[in-house]
Amino acid sequence: MARSNIIVVGGGIAGVMTALELQRGGEQVTLIDRWEPGHSRAASTDYNRMIRAISGRDEFYTKWARESRSRWLELQAESGQRLMYECGALILATEDHCDWEDATAGTFDRVGVPYYKFSQAEISARFPQFSVPDISYALYEPEAGMLMAHRCVLTGIDLFKKFGGIVKRGHVVTDRSERLMLDGKPLQADVIIVATGAWMSDMFPHTIKPMTTVIGVNVIYTSTPDGSEQFDLTNMPCWIDHGQGSFGLPSSEGSGVKAAVVIPDRIDLDNDERLIRKECLSRTRSYIRRRFPELVGEKVVDSKFNQIILTPDTHFILDWHPEHKTVLLAGGCSGHLFKHAPVYGEFAAGVATRKFGTADRFKIAGRKKLSPKESPSGR
Ligand SMILES: Cc1cc2nc3c(=O)[nH]c(=O)nc-3n(C[C@H](O)[C@H](O)[C@H](O)COP(=O)(O)OP(=O)(O)OC[C@H]3O[C@@H](n4cnc5c(N)ncnc54)[C@H](O)[C@@H]3O)c2cc1C
Repeated sequence: MARSNIIVVGGGIAGVMTALELQRGGEQVTLIDRWEPGHSRAASTDYNRMIRAISGRDEFYTKWARESRSRWLELQAESGQRLMYECGALILATEDHCDWEDATAGTFDRVGVPYYKFSQAEISARFPQFSVPDISYALYEPEAGMLMAHRCVLTGIDLFKKFGGIVKRGHVVTDRSERLMLDGKPLQADVIIVATGAWMSDMFPHTIKPMTTVIGVNVIYTSTPDGSEQFDLTNMPCWIDHGQGSFGLPSSEGSGVKAAVVIPDRIDLDNDERLIRKECLSRTRSYIRRRFPELVGEKVVDSKFNQIILTPDTHFILDWHPEHKTVLLAGGCSGHLFKHAPVYGEFAAGVATRKFGTADRFKIAGRKKLSPKESPSGR
């Protein structure tokens, strides 16, 4: 069978994993990005991202996350690069606001995800780093952990090139009818997959912009106490703290403890200098003081300001453009795509080569907001 000539626009984790899967499957793929893959403006670039099956009542993403965990471990073995650390993840259930956490436990039971349910006293005994007077219980997923995000992107690119994929620099734009153009000419291929993350919104003002919101999120890295390994990933899990609108990851490879208090902010994707916002810095510091008293006095050693493109129901996007039938739109991160990227890429490759259709939840039309109880992210 003749190989298809496929272009993937966007070298974040969604584009890279899709391109890799297609190239491995025998297609000829060219990946185009405005900047060098791994660059700091992309949502996929930070030291680390959390991988956990925890998804409320949503069995689909719970299963995808489990499948992706196996894929990441395979990619780790294939590349010889350290892509994942299995440090576990803890979801803290705040008294009287436990719907999402209760739903997650039910899903884990149905799907067969290993987990423990810890009482407040058990959390303190097992993970003394956390101060939890307001927490009624926690779910601990021991096979969750963290992905070394920047390294995952670069490793994906290296494997893609090893299989014969081509990586090019270029700024793809759209005309008034949302037709793709590069260097003043229409972009042409058998299939073009657009995986441009949050930039997809401005590129497709009729198709994507009306159904998405782009927000900026600040994260800060706090130094671990001098001489102590207590906050390293060997001793501390990732965590989700919905009651406080926060999540974080332990120190990995010397990064410091990463914490985010999510205060959605505006972001100008091309012009923002990605400097952390002061309000967020003080809110995150006070969160850290309350939740991790032993970090009081520790200094902020790094920070990131980055974007998330949110769909109303927090489901990803994977659908053909309504007018341009060879253009497949792929992304819609909604704050949780990184972990799923190997399985998402495999699925996107199958849709792109028309082996099967997309899933209903990934279609562009007919989206509606879900309640936090129904939502996979609890948002
Ligand atoms: C603070 C924060 C924390 C997060 N935490 C987690 C987590 O713990 N776990 C998890 O699973 N997910 C997490 N996410 C979400 C995850 O990081 C994203 O879903 C994922 O990285 C999105 O990847 P992407 O490839 O769609 O987009 P991006 O990584 O943004 O990549 C898009 C690429 O397209 C390129 N591009 C854009 N426009 C053009 C154009 N016109 N022409 C050519 N190239 C173009 C860009 O240069 C970029 O390289 C988090 C996100 C943020 C911001």
